Amino acid sequence: MIKYPMVDLVGQYKKIKPEVDEAVLQVMETASFVNGPAVKQFQENLQNYLGVKHVIPCANGTDALQVALMALNLQPEDEVITTSFTFIATAEVIALLRLTPVLVDVDPDTFNITPEAIEKAITPKTKAIIPVHLFGQCADMHPIIQLAKKHNLHVIEDTAQAIGADYTCVESSKTMKAGTIGAIGCSSFFPSKNLGAFGDGGAIFTNNDDLAAQMRIVVNHGMAVRYYHNYVGVNSRLDSMQAAVLDIKLKHLDEYAKARQEAAAHYNNAFAHNPKIKTPVTAPYTSHVFHQYTLVLRDVDREGLMAHLADKGIASAVYYPVPLHLQKAYLDPRYKEGDFPVTELLSKSVLSLPIHTELTPEIQKEIADTLLEYVNS
Ligand SMILES: *Cc1c(COP(=O)(O)O)cnc(C)c1O
Repeated sequence: MIKYPMVDLVGQYKKIKPEVDEAVLQVMETASFVNGPAVKQFQENLQNYLGVKHVIPCANGTDALQVALMALNLQPEDEVITTSFTFIATAEVIALLRLTPVLVDVDPDTFNITPEAIEKAITPKTKAIIPVHLFGQCADMHPIIQLAKKHNLHVIEDTAQAIGADYTCVESSKTMKAGTIGAIGCSSFFPSKNLGAFGDGGAIFTNNDDLAAQMRIVVNHGMAVRYYHNYVGVNSRLDSMQAAVLDIKLKHLDEYAKARQEAAAHYNNAFAHNPKIKTPVTAPYTSHVFHQYTLVLRDVDREGLMAHLADKGIASAVYYPVPLHLQKAYLDPRYKEGDFPVTELLSKSVLSLPIHTELTPEIQKEIADTLLEYVNS
């Protein structure tokens, strides 16, 4: 029996139950289930929170990425550079649109794509870069944007795991929210994400009016005027009920991030100076909202440790056990095992522990003690 799961969505709901229940009932009372006032209100509040001109709600984070790529009018075989160490959705949409995913290795400390690796992967066919702000901290965006400008590339941020994180540009000292730095930002409201709905949801962010207009057309069957379809689009909407829930949770997002950061600090203390455990490293240009708390293990039998934790009722998880270039559906003669050594080593040695808004120092001590018991034995 798992006592301590990776997330505690029930505990989180209980604390905001009256507000959320009322908001959901309100949607039912008015029966405005699709594109109702709740969607508009959430969209506006999220725009204000992020400091971005346009938020385009959609059905999920994968659609957000797909719609962003569709709006850029790319041609088959155009290349899109992304990381080899991410959730599959990032590469999936590139492949689905018959574009070519070009994978690059990541930084061993932040787990994020590096500007150096991107630069080496740029060819005349490259049209876009999708950096992923993995586990809750931003990728090194300033040099990435510089590269994009130099080579005339679009930058689409996958901020499914980092909504609310702050990025500070090293050159201008300007602070921006994750997902508002590149041309387009894409996020997910999957229940376990930092801003989670009670089902699926997603959104696209941009400061560019033309891109916003085009993406609104794409999410709505390629139509700007009803029943006139100038483009091939998709049907991707955020439900009013989900928007109502998200609007309430948005008010708590900063406090949720703080709870996660405090939990991460507790774990960091517990694991400090252990030669077999590397705790998360936060880069100087970003805050970390700890969608995941991910350790890198050295000379530890990971499967054995996970079994030991599970035996004591503690969940743990491996994000991600297989690098993208070694996934069956994505095998490509251009890539072979050994091409992305950092990603490959991480996929064998990372371990994520429970982190969420409802952890207590007591629970964390029990988790850390149980982990150390195995690691130090
Ligand atoms: C969750 C996630 C997605 C996809 O979001 P869905 O809402 O599940 O479609 C995309 N990219 C990353 C990095 C994610 O973690």
